[in-house]
Amino acid sequence: MFIERMSSWTKGTWSHGVRFVQNKKNTGKLALGIFAVFLLVSGTIVGGYIYQSNLSTLYRVAIDGKDIGVVDNPQMIQKWLADMLVAEKKKYPHLAFGFNKKITITEEKHYAEKKLENKAVLDRLASEIKVEANAAQLVVNGKAIAYARDKKSIEQALTRLKAMYSEKKSTHALMVAVTPAFAPKVHAKAQPDLSDVSIKEHIDITYKTISPTRVLNDEQLMNVLLKGVPEQKNHVIKSGETLWNIASQYGLKEKELLALNPHLKEDSVLQIGDTINVQAFSPQVTVVSRKEMVETVAIPYPVKQQNDPKKYRGDDKVVIQGKNGSKQIVYELVKENGKLVRKNPVHQKILQKPVAQVVIRGTKIKPSRGDGHFRMPAVGLLSSRFGMRWGRMHEGIDIANPVGTPVHTADHGRVVFAGEKSGYGKCMIVDHGNGYRTLYGHLSSFIAKPGDIVVKGEVIAKSGNTGRSTGPHLHFEIRKNGEAVDPLPYLR
Ligand SMILES: [Zn+2]
Repeated sequence: MFIERMSSWTKGTWSHGVRFVQNKKNTGKLALGIFAVFLLVSGTIVGGYIYQSNLSTLYRVAIDGKDIGVVDNPQMIQKWLADMLVAEKKKYPHLAFGFNKKITITEEKHYAEKKLENKAVLDRLASEIKVEANAAQLVVNGKAIAYARDKKSIEQALTRLKAMYSEKKSTHALMVAVTPAFAPKVHAKAQPDLSDVSIKEHIDITYKTISPTRVLNDEQLMNVLLKGVPEQKNHVIKSGETLWNIASQYGLKEKELLALNPHLKEDSVLQIGDTINVQAFSPQVTVVSRKEMVETVAIPYPVKQQNDPKKYRGDDKVVIQGKNGSKQIVYELVKENGKLVRKNPVHQKILQKPVAQVVIRGTKIKPSRGDGHFRMPAVGLLSSRFGMRWGRMHEGIDIANPVGTPVHTADHGRVVFAGEKSGYGKCMIVDHGNGYRTLYGHLSSFIAKPGDIVVKGEVIAKSGNTGRSTGPHLHFEIRKNGEAVDPLPYLR
């Protein structure tokens, strides 16, 4: 539209002046850009007087209010300006253009001949006036990040960025996200649901005149949003680093790193602690996404303990088996540009209550001292008595029984020995703390271990046929202050 109007001025039969006024406000009329144009039509009547009075008419040209000379033909200036606009528009058909400075042409009357400055004025215009694109600029937290042809391109790029991190992806969301700005309008129903994503930074989209070379297309704009803008940083060289791995740390090519550090060459030796220039890209726009996640976790069962003073300590019995419950926890996962930053529990629901385990626990302290009354250590037949046997002293009694018969301690006490003993084979000794010890020989296995406090009747071992033995039996001794005594009188 702008260009059309320009060409109409150049073709126009009569216009006294053209003023290019910079419009400070962004009206949103993109075709007009920030340069609104006013035609000052002062009418042909004045022209009539001019003709009759024999005055010459000249045109004073000014840039930003500063006089640069007079010309006799304003159309020459107008055409020169229009040609510049047309040339840029041809190169960048999507962009709106204007001039970098305000140009005013004002009609003047002169009686005397005035020196024309046509060439000087054009030279001056050529050196000062540039055609600039009226571009939309993306401002993130007050910092200009990128330029695009219009506000809509930036808005669409931001929507596309949000759609990339939205978990509510639908075919619609993706479709809209990649729709270029110049495509026909997408039906309202196809708007993506981006309710789970937001941008953390404060975003402004304003208009600015800049060189058209700095205006990004859709893909370049997306790239800036995703990758960020380069920022100069220093890198301190650490041990073992090479140009190649420093470059890769910052997403640079080795060539790019060398270009940032002209003093370095490919084969330069790096010194630890030296600083080199690097470029780091960091995204300037952070898309925050929120998503609910449901987790089911077990609730461990509690243990209720009931003490039983009649039972010995360590003698626990589970009377009700516990059962784990379960609960559902709803979390809010907060991600920034796809990276999890927080996991907040929102609420929880018990699915199944746990069943408490009930344990009856013995509290009675085990006596480690015997009461002096001994019980039979195992069932079986008395196969040999205490006393002289085949010319040798038999220091205990033998109880014949099958291998594996439980062996009980004859009185309360503490296990002081469990191991091999010459002639006895596997053997266990219990000290009763009252001057008596009992010995159990030819065992097949041990149940109690040295140091254990054992209560009269507790199973401490299994009978066997180890050592010097003529058949499976338990050899049992009672020693009083180290002296073997006949066990039989005690076992009543
Ligand atoms: Zn024996």
